[in-house]
Amino acid sequence: MPRFSKDGSSRRSFLKAGAGLAGAGLLAEKDLVAYQSSVRTASKPSDLKITDLRVAVVGRAPMTAPLIRIDTNQGIYGLGEVRDGASKTFALMLKSRLLGENPCQVDRLFRKIKQFGGHARQGGGVCGVEMALWDLAGKAYGVPVYQMLGGKFRDAMRLYTDTDESHDPKEYAQRLKERLDRGFTWLKMDLGMDLVQNTPGTVTHPLGDAFSPRGLVKHMFTGMELTDKGIAMMADYVARIREAIGMEVPLSMDHFGHIGVNSCIRLGKALEKYNPAWLEDMIPWQETELMKSITQAVDAPVATGEDIYLKEPFAELCRTHAVDIIHPDLATSGGILETKKIGDMAQEYGVPMAMHFAGTPISFLANLHCAVATENALVLEFHSADVPWWESLVNGIEKPIINKGFARVPDGPGLGITLHEEVVKQHLAEPGYFEPTPEWDKERSWDRLWS
Ligand SMILES: [Mg+2]
Repeated sequence: MPRFSKDGSSRRSFLKAGAGLAGAGLLAEKDLVAYQSSVRTASKPSDLKITDLRVAVVGRAPMTAPLIRIDTNQGIYGLGEVRDGASKTFALMLKSRLLGENPCQVDRLFRKIKQFGGHARQGGGVCGVEMALWDLAGKAYGVPVYQMLGGKFRDAMRLYTDTDESHDPKEYAQRLKERLDRGFTWLKMDLGMDLVQNTPGTVTHPLGDAFSPRGLVKHMFTGMELTDKGIAMMADYVARIREAIGMEVPLSMDHFGHIGVNSCIRLGKALEKYNPAWLEDMIPWQETELMKSITQAVDAPVATGEDIYLKEPFAELCRTHAVDIIHPDLATSGGILETKKIGDMAQEYGVPMAMHFAGTPISFLANLHCAVATENALVLEFHSADVPWWESLVNGIEKPIINKGFARVPDGPGLGITLHEEVVKQHLAEPGYFEPTPEWDKERSWDRLWS
């Protein structure tokens, strides 16, 4: 039995050599069959069946991230990850729909389970499973995921990095400069109304109320508007950041707070001169017409998308040019193939795709394969610049994974990584490392979509 390299390149050379010998008449057809059958293949793809779906939940990466492992009847397994912060239940409830299925039929299985995904974290289970199916299909056939998507447009993907906020612009500028020193070529900052809301005269809001809790009330319904003073203070904060880091590096801005559309426009206009790379999620993505009014009024790119499930809402935003940039999170938007479709659709409208991401290297690799295989992919988020053990969660890939603000896509089969079991076990957010989940074997609802 020949021994082959982990990345499969020597196995491919071996097979190619056999085919070459047969083609030259130096190897009989029956010998070629014997030659090929002596190759240690990971799997017989046509007979591959899903036998289990198990979970291990990693914490503080910096988010909580349920990793999933889909096992098969042939000893190979696929890795996926539920969206950061989402419940593992979103994946486990899909197990009964997957048992006995061939994981290589990625798109068919995605269409079978996609009715169980939804807005924001609700999409996390379907997307995590989809990643694991691609990993399995790649391992079964011995090719990297990006190749199954049609091949790559680039070998490495540009990353943008987040930086935890500080109310002190000096301190914050220092943190951003450290990112630049590490080679990052694109930055994102938080610029929320919380920077100014404790200063009297900065925010008009219903008196007697505490500021509305984030995430529960849509921006238009809070009754909160920034004053000229509040806007000037926020713009001044950005001015001091730009003084420190210069005007050249793209600087995206996020988490403005639940302020009304008019405040978004007034703030956006005050920020124009600092060239934001994009203004992110100023209002909820569903408000297409309102989003368009911000995009048309402000001469800086407006972006949204991290909570959108599936392609159709992105198509509406692109068709109407309600945003300048779409910003899907692959772990919500529908997984690897759906996100490539989203990018390809947006390209037809001249809209670039930035990619939102906050998770472990498992989901990161899913993003990376999609990003290199999608022509209009602009930049991919990296949220773990301050998590020193992040890369050590996985093996089988060239390190460092993040190198001077870029990530090189690996050529190994599937996602191209293996789990480093010991490190994962050191960072579990709850007990249990891929324990059996028989309680999910028979979960049922009436799955038919059309009556
Ligand atoms: Mg965001």
